[in-house]
Amino acid sequence: MTTPPTPVNLLDLTPADAEQQLRAFAEARGVGAYRGSQAARRLWSHPAASFAEMTDLPLAFRAELAQAFSVPRLELAAEQRSTDGTRKFLFRLHDGQTIETVAIPDGDRVTLCISSQAGCALQCSFCATGLMGFSRNLLPSEIAGQVRELALLPEPVKPTNIVFMGMGEPMMNWKAVNVVLTILNDAKGCGIGARHITVSTVGVLPGIEALAKRPEQFRLAISVHAPSDELRRMLMPVNIKFPLEKVIDAAANFSRRVTFEYVMLGGVNDQPMHAELLAQLAKRCGAFVNLIPLHPGGAGSYTPTSADGIRRFAAALERAGVEVAVRKSRGTDIAAACGQLRVERLRRRPPVAAD
Ligand code: SAH
Repeated sequence: MTTPPTPVNLLDLTPADAEQQLRAFAEARGVGAYRGSQAARRLWSHPAASFAEMTDLPLAFRAELAQAFSVPRLELAAEQRSTDGTRKFLFRLHDGQTIETVAIPDGDRVTLCISSQAGCALQCSFCATGLMGFSRNLLPSEIAGQVRELALLPEPVKPTNIVFMGMGEPMMNWKAVNVVLTILNDAKGCGIGARHITVSTVGVLPGIEALAKRPEQFRLAISVHAPSDELRRMLMPVNIKFPLEKVIDAAANFSRRVTFEYVMLGGVNDQPMHAELLAQLAKRCGAFVNLIPLHPGGAGSYTPTSADGIRRFAAALERAGVEVAVRKSRGTDIAAACGQLRVERLRRRPPVAAD
């Protein structure tokens, strides 16, 4: 007996590669290559939940597709809605891992915050995802799949913007993220403009260089969080491997304007001296600074900087000639910061042995 070949997961491929395979398959089955292009449309731009639901295709061809290919779903395990309209989704993957996606409406924009890894290895001291440790990298189909699943809801969520600010460090999973960027941006994929897609990183240098080489205008955000090596090492152990100086140099060499993310930790990184040093760094690479109020329920025992304190810090940056915005805290009532939904659910269960 021979085992049947494993079906090819079409959602792990760029739209062009998937279409090519589908066209060749359709041609070989004698239904005309155009049927392959028709099936390709149903992956991302007009998503269908399964081959069976691609009702614009002949029934027999749909059955043949289902033998040779797969379009796996992510199981929606939980959803929470904030009073401010923010929605948080917890997805369960085929091996039981769980990841989260947050949808943040703002006027006529909808920003999706997507996860790139199950857990995270970086252990930033204030971050809930760091607490749970690293489980594994996500596949392209599991990262872009988060966007696809929301498009498949009875009331589809259609994002205008995507940020890689969910669980995980996208630049530690560049191979998959590289494919996902194409899927999200491609007119035959999700069709989201590159300038509306932001990759956020702690400063993994090879990843920044790889993103810089892409011809599209994808945006780069760097989690700075401290303006000196000494303090940054304490908050972000990754600073030992990728020190601030080198990260700032990489930001300066990046072909497009970079955003600095800076989480405001009361009494830790929010003093006038920090604003002064941060302004120097931002000016060196022409960065825009995004001040992030600390989301309650992260890790560690930090206290958020007061709203007044944040305003003063922002004003100091502005006086130094730096463009700055204070990010609105969204979904605080549903613990929508990095990793918080999963942590909440894990806490309710007995601990699982790490593998
Ligand atoms: N690993 C990437 C992307 C995921 S986190 C990165 O670190 O950039 C997205 C952003 O949320 C990062 O800037 C992270 O530092 C920040 N963050 C994590 N926990 C937070 C919390 N409790 N409050 C506010 N921001 C937080």
